[in-house]
Amino acid sequence: MQLSTPIKKLPHIGLAYQKRLKKLGIKNVRDLLFHFPHRYENFSKIIPISEVKLNETCCIKGKILEIENTRTWKRRMILTQAVVGDKSGAIKVVWFNQPYLINALKAGNSVCLAGKVSLEKGKRTGLYLSNPAYEKINGEIDLIHTGRLVPVYPETEGLSSKWLRYILQPLLIEVKNKIKDPLPEKVRENHRLLFLKKAIWQIHFPDSLNLAREAKKRFSFEDLFYLSLSVLKERVKLAKEKARACPLNLKLVKNFVESLPFQLTAAQKESAWQILKDLARPQPMNRLLEGDVGSGKTVVGVMAALNVIKAGYQVALMAPTEILAKQHFQNITTFLKKFNLKIGLLTGKEDKLNQKKISRKNLLEKIKKGEIDFLIGTHALIQERVKFKKLALIILDEQHRFGVEQRAKLSQQKEFIPHLLSMTATPIPRTLSLTLYGDLDLSLIKELPKGRKKIITKVVSPNKRRAAYDFIRKQVKIGRQIFVICPRIEPSEAKNKKTVTWAEVKAVKEEYEKLSKIIFPDLKVNYLHGKMKAEEKEKIMKKFKDKKIDILISTSVVEVGIDIPSATVMMIEGAERFGLAQLHQFRGRVGRSEHQSFCFLFTDSPAKKTHQRLKALISSENGFELSEKDLEIRGPGDFSGARQWGIPDLAMASLKDIFLVQSSKQAAKETLKEDPELKKYPLLRKRLEEFRERIHLE
Ligand code: ADP
Ligand code: MG
Repeated sequence: MQLSTPIKKLPHIGLAYQKRLKKLGIKNVRDLLFHFPHRYENFSKIIPISEVKLNETCCIKGKILEIENTRTWKRRMILTQAVVGDKSGAIKVVWFNQPYLINALKAGNSVCLAGKVSLEKGKRTGLYLSNPAYEKINGEIDLIHTGRLVPVYPETEGLSSKWLRYILQPLLIEVKNKIKDPLPEKVRENHRLLFLKKAIWQIHFPDSLNLAREAKKRFSFEDLFYLSLSVLKERVKLAKEKARACPLNLKLVKNFVESLPFQLTAAQKESAWQILKDLARPQPMNRLLEGDVGSGKTVVGVMAALNVIKAGYQVALMAPTEILAKQHFQNITTFLKKFNLKIGLLTGKEDKLNQKKISRKNLLEKIKKGEIDFLIGTHALIQERVKFKKLALIILDEQHRFGVEQRAKLSQQKEFIPHLLSMTATPIPRTLSLTLYGDLDLSLIKELPKGRKKIITKVVSPNKRRAAYDFIRKQVKIGRQIFVICPRIEPSEAKNKKTVTWAEVKAVKEEYEKLSKIIFPDLKVNYLHGKMKAEEKEKIMKKFKDKKIDILISTSVVEVGIDIPSATVMMIEGAERFGLAQLHQFRGRVGRSEHQSFCFLFTDSPAKKTHQRLKALISSENGFELSEKDLEIRGPGDFSGARQWGIPDLAMASLKDIFLVQSSKQAAKETLKEDPELKKYPLLRKRLEEFRERIHLE
């Protein structure tokens, strides 16, 4: 057996399991070994039966003295009852609804059991083990489900931790000697990292919690190391390329700023200045412009574009959806009115040149001849073979991409490659943005334009729900629109209702039924969710924008960036299920006009953490602050931002560990300095390539 052996060739994994594994992206032995537990159950201490205590979780070892199935008096449930004894005594054991256990466990078997000690109803004595994990003791074979630190894997439908342990242990033994470590020895030694072989073993079946931590550290380090290597390599490559230098035209910039109907904020000026300086250099810019929703990134991008166009070149701006592309096209046309530019719109459906419809063929022709100055569009920009005559700047709006691929596809001349500006409203933790970009390649807009009305944010207690609905009705009556966001829950999570007992999780459709039929039968209610086709989603968004819908119920898919000026209420159900940064983004979808806007948060969760987090949201309007706070309170793993960048979970989790982030970056620097092409490390090269495919560095 090899690490590359496909899952379907393994014993004990039937078709159904193959399918479930595939869903998790697990295709071969290696993938399986890299499917890590997210926590451990500590069953390592085996105690004598005489020492078990009520309500404690314990692990015992003994012999089954008797075992039988019975029915409860209501005949609904089958109980498997056993008595297990050791030298110190005996205890009753009860399993619910697992009648087949009787076939596996027989009187006389030696077993290890781990579970909670309960008290029989109505009795003062009569302790029993309730539904314990069990494992037959079989000579020399190591315990894997009990009697040790037991790995628990993230819950996925149809893939239990028990099954994974059962499959993983023999695999680990089998391939142990085939695991080669891609990390350079020096790096491993300098940073005191476990060998890969040991780390894999210890992360699944740790000998101690400390070793489990060490193993996890090694994998986090490795991911961060790959991330840094990828970014640094890209940077080195880019530094060797040439780009069109677009000298700063101060008079032009002044002229533009004076033509604006508002004063730029200091942060906008600062960012624009950084970008304009980059553009004046003959090396390609690679800059991230990060600013909260509504902070005014577009106008900064436009300023850069104008400077590039007047230097004699073309600019392309790519937006994630058609509505956003159109919105940009309208706004940018207005911003640039007095400069008489040729601005084109290219989307999946509609092409325009300065407000006039134009055929695709005609538009492409003009782009190629250099008769379009500024082309705005969707992904169609890179899908259609659009040829530019002299493209010098690409602006990516809300793409959560590094832009490597887009830049490659759009730059056709060999000699020069275009500058790249990526704009995003997703607050990224600083450790991540500094890893993805250098210190000098980051522009932040940390303030909102003056005079914005503060959005009134409130946690609404359940008994005020009616009042909230009344308020919403009044808002609609004066011409405003409402967003309702519902958390959507994965089927596996929904099945495991135990984890969500307090939360009545509202699915979008359910909420739609309720609002459209019972609460607001007289209003225009519609809904949107991620399973809809992109086209359908866009259609609904457009209807909302055109005020043909009063109340839009949606999952978290509503994109950032869309202006719905008369949307004044953002109502969020199950608010505890979202990260702070995400809640903040939802909130940013209202308050885009002179009207007072509101954000209502609903939660049934009594958890202290939830209220702490929601309080932070009420008191802060700053997305950056909130994303760092989220990291603090909630811990990583829920970062919408990082996830959109495709950063692996472990690396994401370790973003909190500034020391690890820095040391992995340092290691990457040193390794590349010594061996820029990584010639000495073929395995590292290979892993790096795989890593790059996994994340969206494109
Ligand atoms: P985002 O950063 O979310 O992309 P936009 O660029 O869409 O934000 O800007 C949001 C709105 O704010 C736009 O209508 C824009 O014209 C306006 N705006 C931008 N800068 C300022 C400013 N300095 N003062 C007032 N309004 C501004
Ligand atoms: Mg925007």
